[in-house]
Amino acid sequence: MIAFTAKSLLTPLERIVHPVVMVEGGMIHSVAPRDHKEVPSATNVIDLGDAVIVPGFIDIHIHGGAGYDVMRADTSGFEALEQSLSRHGVSAYFPTTVTAPVDAILSSLERLANEIEDAAKRKPSNRAVPLGIHLEGPFISHARRGVHPPANLVPPTIAIFERFWQAARGHIALVTIAPELDGAEEVIAHAARRGVCVSMGHSDATLDAARAGVAAGARHATHTFNAMRPLNHRDPGILGEVLTNPKITADIIADGIHLDPTIVKLFLEAKGPDSAVLITDAISATDMPDGCYLLGEVEVEVKDGKCLANGTLAGSVLTMDRAVRNVMQFAGWDLQRATRLASLNPAHVMGFKNRGRLESGARADFAVLNSKGEVLQTVIGGNYS
Ligand SMILES: [Zn+2]
Repeated sequence: MIAFTAKSLLTPLERIVHPVVMVEGGMIHSVAPRDHKEVPSATNVIDLGDAVIVPGFIDIHIHGGAGYDVMRADTSGFEALEQSLSRHGVSAYFPTTVTAPVDAILSSLERLANEIEDAAKRKPSNRAVPLGIHLEGPFISHARRGVHPPANLVPPTIAIFERFWQAARGHIALVTIAPELDGAEEVIAHAARRGVCVSMGHSDATLDAARAGVAAGARHATHTFNAMRPLNHRDPGILGEVLTNPKITADIIADGIHLDPTIVKLFLEAKGPDSAVLITDAISATDMPDGCYLLGEVEVEVKDGKCLANGTLAGSVLTMDRAVRNVMQFAGWDLQRATRLASLNPAHVMGFKNRGRLESGARADFAVLNSKGEVLQTVIGGNYS
């Protein structure tokens, strides 16, 4: 048994002052205020001083980092990426593919499935853990493809989805799809039956088409506002549905580049602390110097925090700890509510009950922050080094 103590802890629904977190076998045994809790004398106590303990962050949309793209990374690439993620408070992530030739996607899915299965067998370490795959593309709109290569976009069919599913050995956890495409409703219903979270994105859907997608089983929205039909007051389109339907959760890239800070505020007010989720959409250039990088098979130039491919935004170099701090700065939200968008809410979207929260029976995954919200340490599966 290990006991962690700190100045405060966000569960994140509650704030506990002077907490003691008892950890055993990678899981949280108990969380309680220090003066309510007897710590057995033989316990190894780790005092984190003035720090704040928050649940480890969960990134459901990430293409790479530390110089590696998840579609091409080898074993050492995943190790570097996962260590870099944990330096930014991320304890779990969903590696995200981009549109490429079907065969390239299939071989990436196989390698990602290997990494997910290997990670599940590893002893807890300082590496963020991949939990499932986010398939972004090829079932997306030509009109809203962003930098996804147009020649490789494919109309959605159950047959192709099943090829992806088999290659990924069932590890596809999230799929981004444009609901207005021919065949999309069948694929949405099929993927939802498979237990996949279906997210609407890279979409030019009208309000009616978005509602049909939701009726078929879509329940999330991918990088809301970006690569989406814009909101118009007489033609609200997909954004009208995403922003007003309380059953839909939705994510944003809060880097201050993809969305004006005022739009971040508007989004957060519309979706509220229950349904808003932060993603990074980070690419291999994250945590690396400016220069030329790959996003799948797309060449991207990174300069001053902006990732561009032929003048179009191509992912980000955002880290999750910064996204949380940006929410506090852009919208005036406190650390507790901002943290929730990067922990409890993504865990909920992905159907995990024992992640994204700090309570008895949950995994011992937490980030240790200073008073400015900067990451001092990330504890994954109770591993403290
Ligand atoms: Zn995208």
